[in-house]
Amino acid sequence: MSDARALGVLQRVFGYESFRGDQQAIVEQVIGGGDALVLMPTGGGKSLCYQIPSLVREGTGIVVSPLIALMQDQVDALTELGVRAAFLNSTQDWRVAREVEQAFLDGELDLLYVAPERLLTDRCLQLLDRGRIALFAIDEAHCVSQWGHDFRPEYLGLSMLHERWPDVPRIALTATATAVTRTEIAQRLSLDEARHFVSSFDRPNIRYRIVEKNEVRKQLLDMIRTEHEGESGVVYCLSRARVEETAEFLCNQGIDAMPYHAGLSPQIRAANQSRFLREDGVVMVATIAFGMGIDKPDVRFVAHIDLPKSVEGYYQETGRAGRDGLPATAWLAYGLQDVVQQRRMIDESPGDESYRRRLGQQLDAMLGLCETVECRRVRLLAYFGQQITACGNCDVCLDPPQAWDGTVAAQKVLSAVYRLWKERGQRYGAGHIIDILRGKVTDRTKQHGHESLSVFGVGADLSDTAWRGVLRQLLAQGLLTVDNEGFGTLALTEGSRAVLKGEHQLMLRRESEKKPRSGKTGSGRPKAAAIDLPAELQPVFEALRAWRGEVAKSHGVPAYVIFHDATLREIALAQPESMDELSHINGVGARKLEAYGEEILQRVARPVL
Ligand code: ADP
Ligand code: ZN
Repeated sequence: MSDARALGVLQRVFGYESFRGDQQAIVEQVIGGGDALVLMPTGGGKSLCYQIPSLVREGTGIVVSPLIALMQDQVDALTELGVRAAFLNSTQDWRVAREVEQAFLDGELDLLYVAPERLLTDRCLQLLDRGRIALFAIDEAHCVSQWGHDFRPEYLGLSMLHERWPDVPRIALTATATAVTRTEIAQRLSLDEARHFVSSFDRPNIRYRIVEKNEVRKQLLDMIRTEHEGESGVVYCLSRARVEETAEFLCNQGIDAMPYHAGLSPQIRAANQSRFLREDGVVMVATIAFGMGIDKPDVRFVAHIDLPKSVEGYYQETGRAGRDGLPATAWLAYGLQDVVQQRRMIDESPGDESYRRRLGQQLDAMLGLCETVECRRVRLLAYFGQQITACGNCDVCLDPPQAWDGTVAAQKVLSAVYRLWKERGQRYGAGHIIDILRGKVTDRTKQHGHESLSVFGVGADLSDTAWRGVLRQLLAQGLLTVDNEGFGTLALTEGSRAVLKGEHQLMLRRESEKKPRSGKTGSGRPKAAAIDLPAELQPVFEALRAWRGEVAKSHGVPAYVIFHDATLREIALAQPESMDELSHINGVGARKLEAYGEEILQRVARPVL
């Protein structure tokens, strides 16, 4: 049966003892010639789902991937495992491309990575006709979704694979998971008969935290310094300008940070990406243009300093943390201004009414997640139609926020908004409204005579921050809106009336006053992979890491391509004394055992102190 062969490949080539989750069922489906649609979170182990069938079936597995910049790394990683892999894309010299084509025709490739636009050329299609194809894997399959955040028009052409090669199994994979996206993928790729494999989207090792934004750069710096000093991370920003200024700020504070956005030249982007992948402890400050397909396993944190536009995008981005299964952080700072800005952007965005409505719904779901008093993970997974119990590893579970009756406070805000809105023609921001409520005399209150308003000073009992929290939550719940016709002034909504009349009791969220707990801080804190390692084994682990760094450098590949931190950790713990013992460690396959086994055994036996 197929499973014995597949398991053999898993153990021998990849060095893993057993399949995870749905992997085995998926692999068997494809080895048996069936189609599959695979939805698995980032880090779930999608690559093996097509790599193993490609090795077991006759012929070459053709992998369609939009990520040209990463093909070299993917091929390098497979080569390290002794798998015969190559790629075809536009960055390649034509002579090299010819050699790859010939290797394919001669049946010398297990896997061939191709960009979709390349695949759809006549030359490539004819080439594939002349060789033997084991399967088609369509990676990042959500790129076919026109509503999604990563739409690639070339993906629409991929439905022809089925017509041209009806007998070749196809496997489409994505980490994007809503039911809508899933249906769209199946339809556009003509995967009518594919078996669907939907994994749990939970990523238990990621700690989700959403904090109230005040001085965001300082908050970010604090988080990095106290929890992730010297570790790799990604900081997502909404605009290029913000990427630049944040990267510069972090550098000035002594953090090894680099910018990445679509406005940088391809050379700089490639260089920055390569440094991030190859070196330890680099922080990438980026727009969402960065990250898809980056399979660096030891990204320890993903921070968002602007509100993401959808839960789907947020989950994909945060999923890039902790692929190695070790503890990681997803940190988001969010404030009143984010809500105002995003609502405005939606109103001003091109496209028809239904498109804007859709954006509005996505934003509402994201705001719901930010303002929830429930476990974050329960909310996140519910968004993907999955149910779990409270996780114990998010800010809400660890430090539950308090709920308070904000009805009266909300009425004060709404009356103030109503009074100001009646003036029309003036743009009063949230800050001005809060000044009025708190009875603060400013140039503006004087100029407009606002000190005589009946609401002036009615809110002296709450702090500035508390009022911002009230306003933010009213906006998030749609009880207040930004009226663009009225010059961007805050305005009432249908829902406001019930609150003003006292028909609707409004429970609001108040952040816990406690500081988030963190372990040891600063450089004395052990790295994630070394946490829980007995102190006497830390030098062994460090010696293995240093050795790995040298090997990676001499091979010109990222360190994790040689061995993951998790594998080095297991070696340090198990203290293997023979090649046989070493071969049982997860992540040590036949090829790596042969290439590196002796060197590892030496380092475990006599750690370099
Ligand atoms: P995805 O593409 O779904 O984001 P990857 O294929 O990169 O995930 O796998 C994530 C990590 O899990 C990788 O480091 C991979 O080596 C590891 N992994 C995958 N399957 C297994 C398994 N069966 N046993 C142990 N580790 C695995
Ligand atoms: Zn939780």
